[in-house]
Amino acid sequence: MANYEFDIGVIGGGAAGLTVTAGATQLGAKTLLVEKDKELGGDCLHFGCVPSKTLIKSAHVYHQMKNPKAYGLPPVDVPPVDFKQISERIRSVIGTIQKHDSEERFCKLGAKVELGEPTFSDEHTIRLNGKTYSAKNWVISTGSSAVAPPIPGLDKTPYITNREIFYMDHLPQSMIILGGGPIGSEMGQAFNRFGTKVTIVDQATQILGKEDPDMAELVKGVMESEGVEFHLGASIESVKDLGREKEVVVKTDDGKRRSLKAEIILVALGRGANVGGLGLDEIGIDFSLSGIKVDNRLRTSQKHIYAAGDVAGGFQFTHAAGYEGGIVVSNAIFHLPRKTNYTFLPWCTYTDPPLGSIGMNETMAKQAGIRYSTWVEAFKDNDRSLAEGEKIGKIKMILDEKEKPIGVQILGPNAGDLLAEWVAILNGKVKLSTLAAAVHPYPTIGEINKRVAGTYFSPKIFSDKVKKTLKFFFHLKGRACSPEECVV
Ligand SMILES: Cc1cc2nc3c(=O)[nH]c(=O)nc-3n(C[C@H](O)[C@H](O)[C@H](O)COP(=O)(O)OP(=O)(O)OC[C@H]3O[C@@H](n4cnc5c(N)ncnc54)[C@H](O)[C@@H]3O)c2cc1C
Repeated sequence: MANYEFDIGVIGGGAAGLTVTAGATQLGAKTLLVEKDKELGGDCLHFGCVPSKTLIKSAHVYHQMKNPKAYGLPPVDVPPVDFKQISERIRSVIGTIQKHDSEERFCKLGAKVELGEPTFSDEHTIRLNGKTYSAKNWVISTGSSAVAPPIPGLDKTPYITNREIFYMDHLPQSMIILGGGPIGSEMGQAFNRFGTKVTIVDQATQILGKEDPDMAELVKGVMESEGVEFHLGASIESVKDLGREKEVVVKTDDGKRRSLKAEIILVALGRGANVGGLGLDEIGIDFSLSGIKVDNRLRTSQKHIYAAGDVAGGFQFTHAAGYEGGIVVSNAIFHLPRKTNYTFLPWCTYTDPPLGSIGMNETMAKQAGIRYSTWVEAFKDNDRSLAEGEKIGKIKMILDEKEKPIGVQILGPNAGDLLAEWVAILNGKVKLSTLAAAVHPYPTIGEINKRVAGTYFSPKIFSDKVKKTLKFFFHLKGRACSPEECVV
């Protein structure tokens, strides 16, 4: 049997790679972790979830400071945003979390951490900084990067992506965002709240293309009411650097061309897998820009080399990367053949209000040819929601023809956290009647989960048939007043 230096080698120290490294080392595997940046943590910590959610919180507070009347408070003079201070806060939050993701921590766990960009020299060996390292198994977890499509002029025009947006030295006066997906929508709303004039362009006719149109439309409505300008169904024809401003020419569905100008262009048009420079072609691994091809155990076309996280091209979320890291540990270290199952993988877009989703939405159910019914409860009917000043949004529960829940979408306050109960219900195959009967604390926004389950049972419980049966057996006398008498 060949003698390799390491049991497992991990390339990329983000959510997926760190999960594998922590799991493998703690199980006694001799582990090598290679990261190209100077710090571990990946996109989520440095250029993704953490900075974006920190920035969104600042934008939320600033928005409330500018709207005290909504809470019965006196008006206040709110000075303009100093973006350097927001950036500083972002760096400070990252700095605190960085300690959990430090080289030192992983070294203490027992991993050898090397910085640099490796290339496979054969299926078991990499070349890195003039040395070679061999491992029995490898995991490629190099993440993804913002894609810049071949739009005429884009390559000659300065633009920013998620790598620069959190670290700008000033608040831009205006920003055109190319792409109305989760990143474009989250950043669009936040920067607009800070005072930047934001325009979002997307060739699709709705923002947040994975979501049901009615939910996405509600998010767009809130953002529009706050001043974000949208050009949807608009193809981007060209981009030009005009010096102080940049120009984006769009052509809308009706054939009209419009010239949009702004100080900054943010490109948020999707993500491409980080596969360059690894020498994957040479060792016969199938891949494309959308990701490395893997089977349901996350094995690439070389069975001892796994791919996990964004680079595998599936669900591009931190929790998906962590989940996949766990699958790799099961397969490569425990030798337990564990397969991926994304049926109830939740996700959330952190606009205000946020839009959370688990399982199938209506669009997916239609595409899958599933006959379904929807059950809806509005946040304006939730007492706590009203007390919090949150009137917009709804929860939508989707049942299949056997009346089993197959998905839930929540647009409203704390949507991401509200999904937690559904994560347990759907994964644990808990009966809907259990949720509907379970006492939830009052007044909480979480009561909406119980209420939406109740919308399914109410018509059955309070039906004419039940009333007639009760009348027959227990001689109930029926209404105490006629409906006409109720009109005051
Ligand atoms: C603006 C933004 C906001 C986001 N918000 C959320 C959110 O709220 N919730 C959520 O779940 N997800 C969010 N995401 C997605 C999330 O960041 C990713 O899904 C997650 O980081 C993927 O983890 P990963 O381990 O696959 O990749 P990464 O975390 O990107 O890690 C990849 C690592 O590999 C390294 N690397 C790359 N190439 C090489 C190489 N050749 N050699 C060695 N190392 C290499 C990189 O430097 C990096 O450290 C957001 C993303 C963005 C851009």
